Order: sequence, then C-alpha cells, then structure tokens
Amino acid sequence: MIIPDAILGVLGGGQLGRMFCIAARTMGYRVWVLDPDPDSPAGALADRHLRADYLDQAALNELCAHCAAVTTEFENVPAETLEFLESAVPVRPSSRAVAVARDRILEKTFIREQGLATAPFFAINTEADLDYACTRLTLPALLKTAQLGYDGKGQVAVSGIDTARQGFADLGTRPCVLEERVELAREISVILARGVDGDTAVYPPGENVHVNGILDTTRVPANISDEVAAQARQMAVKLAQAMQYCGVLAVEFFLTTGGELLINEMAPRPHNSGHYTLDAALTSQFEQQVRTLCGLPPGSTRLLSPVVMVNLLGDLWTRGTPPWDKLLRHRQAKLHLYGKQAARPGRKMGHYNCLADDPLQAMALAESIRRDLTGT
Ligand code: AMP
Repeated sequence: MIIPDAILGVLGGGQLGRMFCIAARTMGYRVWVLDPDPDSPAGALADRHLRADYLDQAALNELCAHCAAVTTEFENVPAETLEFLESAVPVRPSSRAVAVARDRILEKTFIREQGLATAPFFAINTEADLDYACTRLTLPALLKTAQLGYDGKGQVAVSGIDTARQGFADLGTRPCVLEERVELAREISVILARGVDGDTAVYPPGENVHVNGILDTTRVPANISDEVAAQARQMAVKLAQAMQYCGVLAVEFFLTTGGELLINEMAPRPHNSGHYTLDAALTSQFEQQVRTLCGLPPGSTRLLSPVVMVNLLGDLWTRGTPPWDKLLRHRQAKLHLYGKQAARPGRKMGHYNCLADDPLQAMALAESIRRDLTGT
C-alpha cells in the first residue's frame, strides 16, 4: 500500500487530472503533474508541475525518481511513455490496458473476443476493406478513426459506397472502424474501480444525453429496468476482469430500441459521465483513482442521492462570465469549474450537479438553472 504523503504522478493536466489532484491532496498525498501547457488546470493545483512534453526523458526520469506510482488522465499519452515509466514504478492502469482502450480496432475486437456485444463493425485499413465492409453491414453506418477520436470528432456518416470512400479520404485514409448505425433507445455508462487484487466496486449506470456529439447531461439512476442495469454492470465487470484491469474504468453502452445492450467504448480513467460521483456518491471516481493507484481497496460506490450532472461548455461564456449567482443560490446545486482561461465553443469549462429526492426533480432543477444561465 502506498500511504500519504507519498508523491503520485499524473500524466495530463486537464480537468480530470485536476480533480485527481484535489482527491489525492485531500487524502494527504502529494501530486506531480506532467503537462506541456503552462496554464493546465491540474498544474495549477499540483505540488509540482513538470512543464514538458510526454516524451521528455528528463521529465520522465524525474517522475520515476520521485513518484511512488503514476496514473494518466487521458489515453492518448504516447505508449512509449507508459512503458518506460512501468519499468520503474507502478503504472495504473497498465500500458497494455491503455493501448487497447485508445484504439477502436483493438478495443472493439477485444470486447467481441470476450463474448460481449458491440454494434456490428469491421476494421478498415484499406479501401478494399471498406468496399467489403459496405457489402456485409446494413447501412447507414458510421466510419470512425481508430485513434484520436473523441466527442464525436473523427467520424463521418456513411450511406453507401461513395460516401464511405469519400469519408475514408476525408478522415485521412487512416485505420478506421466502419460500424452499423444502431437505433438508440438510451445511452448509459458504467464506471467501476478495480483494485490490484481484483476487488471491484461498481457504480449504478448513468443515463447520458449527448448534444452535437458532446456529453450534455448524466442522470442517475438511469431510466432503465433493474435487469438492464444489472446486465450493464456485469458486462463492465467482465471486461475489466478480462483486461486484468487496475484503476477506474468507464464503459459506455448503447441500449437499442430492440432492447439489446451493446458496448460502444471504454475509457481507462475517470469519465465525464462519472462526475456526478463528486457530490452524489460515498466515494468519488477520483478518490477511486487514488485508491486503486495506491493499492487500497476501492471505496463504497453507494449513491447518496438521485442526481443530474450538466456540462458547462465554453459557448456559455459568449456574453461574458455566466451569472453564477443564479446557480449558487440553490442549496442542492453544486458548481465545479476547471480553472480554464480561454472559453472556446465546445470546450468543457466545468459542470454542475443537481441533487434531489428523485431524478425527475433533479432534472427539473438542472433545466431551470440552465435556462437561468443561458438567459432563455
Ligand atoms: P463515440 O465517439 O463512438 O462515443 O460516438 C459519439 C456519439 O455518436 C455516441 O454517444 C452516440 O450518440 C453516437 N453514435 C456513435 N456510434 C453510433 C452507432 N453505431 N449507432 C448510433 N449512434 C452512434
């Protein structure tokens, strides 16, 4: 067990790294952040901010020399970096788990190999692969880049062979997956924490609504049957076990109009759809990241209250600083801002959680605050 006041390293200084810092420092750990951005949200709260590239050897040597363990806040950190660190200190999740989660071809293939359902897909490396996949899938479909896609970026809609070829070229003729567009009844996600010895704690599924490909709200409990909730939790645990995973894992699902539960993707880290745990669960997903990194057992995932989380995007700043007083006057609304200087459209600047006796009341409060903030 790694106990306070050991130094923990985190790769990446965005909002997820920042909330990891807050959880770790609350527990008495010290945190070093590696991020090239001098204004990174996590760097501002870290005990030390190494302002260097993720491949900077001197910075990596410093992390190895001082940190008791290292984690990551994003999956696109170079594979060599995690592998190098792993040779010297515990790295959780492992470089292998991160490598699978970062590449849609490896990820979806791995999920399918475990006997877990995904939308029908084919790996696309060449135009010939694409032509073949178009004949085997029921179109329309989505062509998604295997790597570096997020928040709906790196995706094009495919209605036939011509749009498929055009889309493949537009995406840079890079490795992709072509995936059937399924009819969605709901989107849900399950967050879990798995310790070094396999001890696993699972949160109740959250129900997610995306707008323009970006998460807008998460509602917990989700409006799904107990059977679907149990099935989603079991599928997430099975996936984590198969990967011998250690850390926080987020698994996103599609619930189809036909009632089928399909895994869309996973994230090897705390997830935007788990931010509700900061106020509405006994242990936040960031405390879980600290606990699993340090070899402690995962904390209780008990839900303390129904909750709705709403993301605050940079669009809200177009008329200046939003009128926070309209949110802060509510006793059951909790504001979290990430300390980002520039508010660009679509940029995640913060979120708020609304707690109430039932999820519909929480949603009503969330929507009323949204109207107040946007002035609509
Ligand atoms: P992704 O980047 O794969 O998470 O996709 C972003 C969003 O696009 C998802 O949250 C869904 O709303 C939608 N989407 C992605 N793949 C599919 C699919 N195969 N069928 C229907 N909707 C999809």
